[in-house]
Amino acid sequence: MYAATWSNEATHSRIGGQERPRRVLIVEDDEAVGEMIRAVLERSGYAAAVADGPENGLSEALAQPPDLILMDIMMSGMDGYNLAQRLQREERTRYTPVIFVTALAKTSDVVHGLDLGAVDYVVKPFIVPELVSRVKAALRLKASQDELRRANSELAALALADSLTGLHNRRSFMERLEQSIAYSIRRRDPLSCLMLDLDHFKEINDFYGHQKGDIALQQMAGVLRHTVRIADTVGRYGGEEFAVICPSTDIHAAVHLAERVRAAVEAHRFDGPEGRLSITVSVGCAVYDPVLNTGAEALLARADAALYRAKRDGRNCVRSA
Ligand code: GH3
Ligand code: MG
Ligand code: MG
Ligand code: MG
Repeated sequence: MYAATWSNEATHSRIGGQERPRRVLIVEDDEAVGEMIRAVLERSGYAAAVADGPENGLSEALAQPPDLILMDIMMSGMDGYNLAQRLQREERTRYTPVIFVTALAKTSDVVHGLDLGAVDYVVKPFIVPELVSRVKAALRLKASQDELRRANSELAALALADSLTGLHNRRSFMERLEQSIAYSIRRRDPLSCLMLDLDHFKEINDFYGHQKGDIALQQMAGVLRHTVRIADTVGRYGGEEFAVICPSTDIHAAVHLAERVRAAVEAHRFDGPEGRLSITVSVGCAVYDPVLNTGAEALLARADAALYRAKRDGRNCVRSA
């Protein structure tokens, strides 16, 4: 058994960031067949390597997942069916396509191979241009599936982010809060929450226009992000309302943090048409009470009640429940 070595990569990595050649791993215990396939693929511009058995194939695929695997079925140790299933269970290789290239030509073998999730099945002896075409088709499919997965995960991230500020949106914030509460109960660790509302923000919009108001909200998000701690979660709860989850934080520490945020907002000079303008914020704090055990909504309601008192007491101040 020898380690698979990759070829053809240096010749194709051109200066100027040309797209890298696709990497095809061949798992084949017949050395002559493996080398023949490798030569065919290299001539077609692919980077190829041969693993001379299932164990080698597994470790090579996991070490550096290729774009495609051509896999023999009859091999000593683990057969190709088992190896393909094994790779599907691994996080790193679950989306790596497999084409079986095998002497097993019975319809039942082909059906079994495809049922296991192989993208294609080629019977030996194969016709070279046909094999190359099938490789090309499998790689095309892989590229479009990768693209789809990337777009989906971007969409998932967007669904959790507030489009104006990039902070957690209300839904995502509430999910985080539920998780944080569960964690704090398990760890018997205090958890606090801040609710913030910009003071007289309607006047900012009325004086400077909605667009300037939006910019102020974006800058407010920046101030918040820079003032809270790494472990805290900041969300845009509503129009000009923000909220912060503070893990491992009792009410005294929460008030301290809230005061720091209040002062940072007061000190910040927001972009206005005539230079810089000051905006202030009122903050309400509440700590989760494991005895009351009333959940995320109740915790926020208490922080909101404290915020209301801060407004009533003249704004630009911090109150706690
Ligand atoms: P208070 O100090 O009592 O909070 O006064 P306020 O004017 O901030 O309070 P109110 O809740 O009456 O008004 C909130 C205003 O926030 C209403 C709206 O003009 C503004 N607002 C809410 N969402 C947005 C937004 O997405 N963009 C902009 N530019 N303004 C918003
Ligand atoms: Mg074999
Ligand atoms: Mg408001
Ligand atoms: Mg307000």
